[in-house]
Amino acid sequence: MDLNFSAADLAFQDEVRTFIDEYWPPEVRIDRGTASDYSDERPAEVQRWFDGLVARGWSVPNWPVENGGTGWSPTQKFIWDRETSKAGCPPMSAFGARMLAPVLYTWGTETQQERFLPPIREARVQWCQGYSEPGAGSDLASLQTRAVREGDHYVVNGEKTWTSGAHRADWMFCLVRTDTQVEKRQQGISFLLIDMQTPGIEVHPILILGEQHTVNSVTLTDVKVPVENLVGEENKGWTYAKGLLTHERTGIAGVGRSQVQLQKLKDIAAQTAVDGESLLDDPAFERKIQEVEVELMALEMTELRTLATVEEGGAPGPESSILKLKGTAISQRIAELQMEAFGYYALPYPDQMLIDNEGPVGPDAAIPGIKGMLFGRASTIFGGSTEIQKNIVAKAVLGL
Ligand SMILES: Cc1cc2nc3c(=O)[nH]c(=O)nc-3n(C[C@H](O)[C@H](O)[C@H](O)COP(=O)(O)OP(=O)(O)OC[C@H]3O[C@@H](n4cnc5c(N)ncnc54)[C@H](O)[C@@H]3O)c2cc1C
Repeated sequence: MDLNFSAADLAFQDEVRTFIDEYWPPEVRIDRGTASDYSDERPAEVQRWFDGLVARGWSVPNWPVENGGTGWSPTQKFIWDRETSKAGCPPMSAFGARMLAPVLYTWGTETQQERFLPPIREARVQWCQGYSEPGAGSDLASLQTRAVREGDHYVVNGEKTWTSGAHRADWMFCLVRTDTQVEKRQQGISFLLIDMQTPGIEVHPILILGEQHTVNSVTLTDVKVPVENLVGEENKGWTYAKGLLTHERTGIAGVGRSQVQLQKLKDIAAQTAVDGESLLDDPAFERKIQEVEVELMALEMTELRTLATVEEGGAPGPESSILKLKGTAISQRIAELQMEAFGYYALPYPDQMLIDNEGPVGPDAAIPGIKGMLFGRASTIFGGSTEIQKNIVAKAVLGL
């Protein structure tokens, strides 16, 4: 296998770098720790980046060309991911662009595609994911939110929880129960698109580790949803929900992000002196870095293989659980090693550091590093917990 880039790929890489330098220049590349597009208002420089992407037709590389995708080869997508990760470019919202869009262009009606895909492609609308409920997380099929059809609309009642970005979202894609008389709980579930401005919706914040407001509980009381917002067939939502999750898990691998954090780890270790010697030269610490680096390289190859399958017309299968499992374990390991390298500078709680009159102490990277480490703990849970991914790999990949 030839792992070198062709001349055309190298030319593409130059084109990408020039584009990034223009729309996401070095002076705006702040390390945000946990880059998410729902924890902050969208700053002007981020909007400029999205506008640049949209104008160039590069906002949704993974979509089919007829829906606005770029038609790039897996290598080009790989180059794009690597270069944008290295420069810390803001990602398009995963909920719309990576998760919902594949459901819409695969199962949505023409009207739904025309209505909902362009605003996602143009980063004009925020979506959130209404899957989990109190009592229905890993065991998602036990969800209770009820939708009863009354004429030309459904009336929805229930509660969703852990809904990331619901406080900023314009719309929610939501799993609801439309039939209770079923043999298997996976039957009788439907996939609805709900306007967050509809009367009867209340969003309540949930603060997580680091006291960051990213997730919410959403209550729905007699919420009227037009029947045209049903995706696919009534009671067949489980099929679409599962399809969406494989896309979610592929995106969670975060190879590019981990590569950036790995380089940061090396930089921090190089600047940290222990008994007059750089930590990077300490054989025991160097070995820890090398171990995680090898794991990351293996994950990168696995992701490239998955991309190649998708390129050949397939969808990411249960193998995407491997990407999610390894991707989160690796990023958490890198964050742990960063904390080890920061030493006592990793002790202060980030928000206390920010309100302290003394200001932050220690290396510049310490605060985003600590924030990233705290938020990163949740990646063991969201997108399907580690134990559940192991079950999927055991059954659907290894056939145990
Ligand atoms: C930061 C964050 C953001 C999130 N964002 C969203 C969102 O935007 N939208 C959304 O719908 N959901 C979201 N979630 C919810 C997430 O998908 C669920 O938390 C997850 O599916 C686990 O469900 P649970 O919390 O109910 O835990 P449970 O399912 O109750 O699991 C508890 C523990 O038991 C283990 N366990 C459960 N079943 C098994 C089994 N069969 N075998 C072995 N072990 C098992 C789990 O691994 C876990 O360790 C988010 C969660 C977090 C933490």
